[in-house]
Amino acid sequence: MNILIVEDEVSLSNAIKKIMEQHGYLADAVYDGASAIDYATGCAYDLIILDVMLPKLDGFEVVRRLRAGGLQTPILMLTARAATPDKVTGLNSGADDYMTKPFEIEELLARVNALTRRTPGGLVIDTVTFGDLTLNVRNAVLACGNASVQLSRKEFEVLKLLMYHPSTTVTKELLIVKIWGADSEATDNNVEVYISFLRKKLRYLKSQVLIRNIQKIGYRLEAEPA
Ligand code: CA
Repeated sequence: MNILIVEDEVSLSNAIKKIMEQHGYLADAVYDGASAIDYATGCAYDLIILDVMLPKLDGFEVVRRLRAGGLQTPILMLTARAATPDKVTGLNSGADDYMTKPFEIEELLARVNALTRRTPGGLVIDTVTFGDLTLNVRNAVLACGNASVQLSRKEFEVLKLLMYHPSTTVTKELLIVKIWGADSEATDNNVEVYISFLRKKLRYLKSQVLIRNIQKIGYRLEAEPA
């Protein structure tokens, strides 16, 4: 299960991310409304935790835009304002639930558990496929035919991003920003190291899928013709 956390208070965001990961969720964090739209539309999340007061675009506007674009991912809004109009605005704009700050983190977890059980059609999508590969996003196990291998956290995140953008060139810059963070000191070398680890695992699995190097730009997954 993948959760997108949109919260500009870094300490709260970190606390939410930590408890989600302790309970078996995978979580990405972004810190403004514009990034929330990019991430929510670019990756398949099972739930979005969305603060109302955000830089660039507020949470209400983020929900409106995502719903207008047809995204059905459950959204849990966090509001610092206990005022009823805010809750009504949030729910009217397409959020599924809301919590008023400050809240107990255990209660947030309970709401998240409830919301992720009622994804559209009750169906929980926990694998992503490309070519002969199936990646389980719950446990980061990559399978090809009868063979499977456990990915490390970074390998998993790199491959997941490539698989969420099939047949598209994913830039090294995007990989760095999404996986290591915009303010990290990671460089192209970090990306290259994990790409080489992943290629080894693809060979081990005897997969037909290739991670194609697009000179000076990034990487693209290709399902090599049999
Ligand atoms: Ca905020």
